[in-house]
Amino acid sequence: MVLCSLQRVLIAAAILLASVSSVSAKEIDISGIRFGENGNSTRFVLDVSEKASPSIFLLADPYRIVIDLPEADWHASDRVRTVGAVDGYRHGLFAPGIYRIVLDLKAPAVLKSSFNLPPKGNYGHRLVIDLESTSRERFVAAVAASKTSRPAIVARATPEVSSPRRSASGKRIIVLDPGHGGPDPGNLGVIGVHEKVITLKIAQAIRDELNRTGRYDVRMTRDRDIFYKVRERFRIARRHNADLFISIHADAISKPSVQGGSVYNLSETASDAEAARLAARENKADLIAGVNLDEADDDVSSILIELAQRETMNYSAQFASILVGELSRDVPMLKRGHRFANLGVLKAPDVPSVLFEAGYLTNRDNARFLNSSSGQKKIAQAVRRAIDRYFAQMVALGR
Ligand SMILES: [Zn+2]
Repeated sequence: MVLCSLQRVLIAAAILLASVSSVSAKEIDISGIRFGENGNSTRFVLDVSEKASPSIFLLADPYRIVIDLPEADWHASDRVRTVGAVDGYRHGLFAPGIYRIVLDLKAPAVLKSSFNLPPKGNYGHRLVIDLESTSRERFVAAVAASKTSRPAIVARATPEVSSPRRSASGKRIIVLDPGHGGPDPGNLGVIGVHEKVITLKIAQAIRDELNRTGRYDVRMTRDRDIFYKVRERFRIARRHNADLFISIHADAISKPSVQGGSVYNLSETASDAEAARLAARENKADLIAGVNLDEADDDVSSILIELAQRETMNYSAQFASILVGELSRDVPMLKRGHRFANLGVLKAPDVPSVLFEAGYLTNRDNARFLNSSSGQKKIAQAVRRAIDRYFAQMVALGR
């Protein structure tokens, strides 16, 4: 057979495309999941595109089973009915190279076995995870054992952020932190969109608005649906030598009539009971994503609000106050928009930081506003005006 040159080019292009797509493809496709119950056993089955070797471990208080897989694409439903020991499940990209599924347990249950089934009949490859209900004592012992015995699925290295420096261009460095991500979805609003999706959209709108001015060097802690530990978020700001750190969230409350945004500064004492509840919820992100808190390094958890932090806190408070003023012009805000709470993500001792709760996903109008590009644009413009004013003040003060 003689190939004309066009055919040769087409074949070469097809080969190239095939190789490119195999490089960029996720390692595993998860097309379905289901739960089954038999006596004191609970079975979790995943329909997977190929044989999978998960790394599985247990976490106590609350009881959880964490299943780490290589980076995966999730096409299964998020509303599969759970039975037996399993009360609910979450999933998402935990780190580059690690896709994490967290099973919340009603009562202690340990891993009995995990194995792969080859394709058969209507079924393709399946990963089966069998759990067995047990006592708290046996669960706690199994937590310790699972820590040491688990074969680790290793995260892909992420490029290190360059060492602290002033932006080469002399621009002010702003770090935006879209709250939650990956297996930590945040609040689920009445319009059915998770907080992690909305915070990313708002952050991207703010980034674009700031970039248009040409005056700022804007970085994001995350620019896709991936998890970062609370401390890692402000460490990123410190590594960038940020002039300002803005963590973006969206709230939820049992009263559907409540709507409006607020801006938080760090304080050991909350400004009210609702602020304390908010801090408790937001600080739980690591727990929700299945981070073993024992293993977390706690160099910063011990950072108290010290004299050294006072200057940073003054700047944080100045920016918060300006931000509340600008937001109030175009964005629904709570009556007392400037609040205080003990929020872990605001604990960088040397970067002025605020946490912006953009509004309530439990209020339909507020959720629609936050999820709309016009609402996101109004927020972005208000944040840009506040940043402009804040740095103009800094310059006036010789900072
Ligand atoms: Zn949040």
